[in-house]
Amino acid sequence: MENEIFDCIIIGGGPAGMTAGIYLRKANKKVLVIEKYMAGGQMLELESIENYPSFEKIDGMSLSNKMFNQSKNCGVEYVYNEVTAVDFENDLKLVYCKDKVFKGKSVIISTGISSKKLGLNREKELFGKGISYCAICDGNFFRNKICAVASNNLTGLKDAIYLSNLCQKVYLIDSKVDVLPSNCPENIELKKYQIKEILGEECLEKLILNTDEELVVNGLFINIGKSPTSSIFEGKIELDDRGYIITNDSMETTKNGIFACGDVRKNNLKQIVTACSEGALAGVSALKVCVKYDLKNKNMH
Ligand SMILES: Cc1cc2nc3c(=O)[nH]c(=O)nc-3n(C[C@H](O)[C@H](O)[C@H](O)COP(=O)(O)OP(=O)(O)OC[C@H]3O[C@@H](n4cnc5c(N)ncnc54)[C@H](O)[C@@H]3O)c2cc1C
Repeated sequence: MENEIFDCIIIGGGPAGMTAGIYLRKANKKVLVIEKYMAGGQMLELESIENYPSFEKIDGMSLSNKMFNQSKNCGVEYVYNEVTAVDFENDLKLVYCKDKVFKGKSVIISTGISSKKLGLNREKELFGKGISYCAICDGNFFRNKICAVASNNLTGLKDAIYLSNLCQKVYLIDSKVDVLPSNCPENIELKKYQIKEILGEECLEKLILNTDEELVVNGLFINIGKSPTSSIFEGKIELDDRGYIITNDSMETTKNGIFACGDVRKNNLKQIVTACSEGALAGVSALKVCVKYDLKNKNMH
């Protein structure tokens, strides 16, 4: 696969990337999606989607599976790896993963948005070992355990309520919440503070608050917002001051042959239906680049 030249390499297998792949395959192009986790993106976290046309109500995992199967069945190839660097300087674009490099005539960036980090010591090391950024995805692993939710927004309280049905006890650590709603489950306790330290060797053991209070917990769910997953593209294409990728209406970035779509793009509506529609546009625009590349290289040989 590493020695092959793809017509298009799509970075990120959420709804935007999967749709771009379907459009390119319908034009018989050779397409590779590189996904670092599991095809579906943020949809995998959604319990219920009620605004995606043709399904009055569907859970995110089912909608992901449908899109994934459709893209696989029409011949989109998938590699599960994290893209760590890119080289967009030549006609043939290079996409680097930890241990491999892939070549494409065009690249579509559909890396979406990802959870913001607290930036504390041990946060990275204990990710997956007690620390999670998605209560719906991972709550089940903490049945009857003691958990905390670190939050600075309303969805933190939603996470705490969701976890209260599974866990023995849930601390909601949020310096902005004054009181819990009167109908809040009894096993949720508000800590109107911030986390100062995360402790644990093999797995998460304790949290130290900025009051120096210690909380012994099995799980910590961090929900402090999202930001575009675009750091590897800094300096390669134009980003706005918050890191969203700037494109024109055809999803073209400031670099020839490179397109962006979905939540990572500077747009007005971060939803599945817009991610799919932008994916379609990016796919069709990438097609034109492939045709130009083939013509240029045919003339040279
Ligand atoms: C709580 C919540 C509720 C929502 N509810 C709805 C709803 O009801 N209806 C609706 O329409 N939308 C909803 N959304 C929004 C919707 O999920 C997003 O708009 C949509 O998923 C964006 O799709 P995307 O393909 O652009 O990005 P994402 O879904 O974010 O997918 C990006 C993919 O890229 C991968 N990736 C990132 N970096 C790399 C890398 N370096 N290498 C390889 N792979 C990489 C990620 O693993 C991910 O799979 C909700 C979102 C949230 C968080």
